[in-house]
Amino acid sequence: MFFCTKCGLCCRNIDKIPELAEFHKGDGVCIHLSDDNLCDIYSIRPDICNVEKMFELNYKAMMSKEEYEKMNMEGCRVLQGK
Ligand code: SF4
Ligand code: SF4
Repeated sequence: MFFCTKCGLCCRNIDKIPELAEFHKGDGVCIHLSDDNLCDIYSIRPDICNVEKMFELNYKAMMSKEEYEKMNMEGCRVLQGK
C-alpha cells in the first residue's frame, strides 16, 4: 500500500512536470501547497497529483498496483534523499 508521510517534497519539486507548469512561479513550489504541507485544492487537484487516478488512467495496463506503489514510494525516497 502506498504510504505518504506528507513531507510535501513532491509539491515542492514540480518544475519538471509539464502538466503543473502553471502551478509554480519558476521555483518548483506549488502555489497550492499550504504551510502545513497539505494541498489546498486536494479535492480538485490535477490528475497528475492523484496517485490512485494515475494508476487507473495510465499504469494499470503496464504493471500491478503493487509495482506501481513501489515505484511511487521509490520516487518519494529519492526526493527525501533516502
Ligand atoms: S514526496 Fe511522497 S511522501 Fe512526500 S508528500 Fe509527496 S507523496 Fe507524500
Ligand atoms: S496541486 Fe496540490 S497535490 Fe498538486 S502539486 Fe500542488 S499542492 Fe501538490
